[in-house]
Amino acid sequence: MKMELLAPAGSMEKLKAAILFGADAVYLSGKEFGLRAFSDNFTLEEMKEAVGFAHGHQVKVYVTVNIYARNHDLENLPEYLRRLQEIGADAIIISDPGIVLLARETIPNMPIHLSTQANTTNWAAVKFWKELSVQRIVLARELSWPEIREIHEKNGAMELEAFIHGALCMSYSGRCLLSNYMTGRDANQGACAQACRWNYSLVEQKRPGEYFPILEDARGSYIFNSKDICLLAQIPLLDRAGICSLKIEGRMKSAHYVATIVKAYREALDAFEREPGNWQVEDRWLREIGRVSHREYTTGFFLGDDFQDAKVNLNSNENDRSHDFVGLVLGYDPDEKRLSIEQRNHFKKGDLLEFVPPQGENFTAAAVDLRNAQGEPAEAAPHPQEHVSIYSEKPAPPWTLVRRA
Ligand code: SF4
Repeated sequence: MKMELLAPAGSMEKLKAAILFGADAVYLSGKEFGLRAFSDNFTLEEMKEAVGFAHGHQVKVYVTVNIYARNHDLENLPEYLRRLQEIGADAIIISDPGIVLLARETIPNMPIHLSTQANTTNWAAVKFWKELSVQRIVLARELSWPEIREIHEKNGAMELEAFIHGALCMSYSGRCLLSNYMTGRDANQGACAQACRWNYSLVEQKRPGEYFPILEDARGSYIFNSKDICLLAQIPLLDRAGICSLKIEGRMKSAHYVATIVKAYREALDAFEREPGNWQVEDRWLREIGRVSHREYTTGFFLGDDFQDAKVNLNSNENDRSHDFVGLVLGYDPDEKRLSIEQRNHFKKGDLLEFVPPQGENFTAAAVDLRNAQGEPAEAAPHPQEHVSIYSEKPAPPWTLVRRA
């Protein structure tokens, strides 16, 4: 079976980026009942528009209803679930058994995907959820591929989804109080401040302001500072393990991030579909995923405990990226040979820019003959969101990302 590429859609722009750059399905949240409190999230009206856009491109939309509900949350839930059905969501993602029960009663034909927050780690748990008519399990990130394979062999009909790219959490699938304790932002309500990644020291009560280092090495202590997971090179093993859907993490990441990661995995997956026996990871895909903001990459738990790949980043708690996202192509005028660009970050005349179209090869070009929205020569675009144009022999389609090394 062809594996699905599932991408995060934290806003309408990110949804369109994910779809145009090659996702088979997207997941998003409404304003209510979903985690990720700080992503933009969709009103029901926006969700309807999002579903229309996605279905127009043969892409599925899964809606998260994955809060751990308190009694008072349940009151408006059936009505909300009925609305999700009406607007054409393809599945709902749930963590709470109570919400699973209410969804079964209210919208019995709607496929249910069990969220990774439900921590499914063994084949018996999968059987349990199958009896409650759950159609898909988003497996816990802590599983190795032989464990996933065994789960698949014992539950052939159950769809299995796995996180393959993005932030890892040092606690079991986000069940953590650290962020809430340190900052008041609750990870279990989708508002994690990633407090686990900070650089910690020790302070003795009678010596305020004196920080005693708790050293793992000369750089400090990053005991909980997880790397990001990346399973791009593991596509054949994901297939052998019986995974049907490959999930990219990051509804709060930028449209540039989503588009770049989706495109790299799309190309890698298409190459695997064409020639599974001869597939090898290509440097250009790895280069691409290094260009967006990320932590050092790890294969997490997927290759098992025998694989000595440190999951903790001991070098830094900062993100790396080699390129800045500076604009989005709006269109190309073939007569004038000019590319119109909506500026997102500062760039200026003469900068060497890289263009990343939704499909096909990237190309580079200098920002020659930069003009402002009025068509006047300019040294730089003054404001974010400003429309500018540059001269280019080469056309680029709308939604092409523009970035600078
Ligand atoms: S603080 Fe760290 S461990 Fe806790 S939920 Fe957030 S990312 Fe996970």
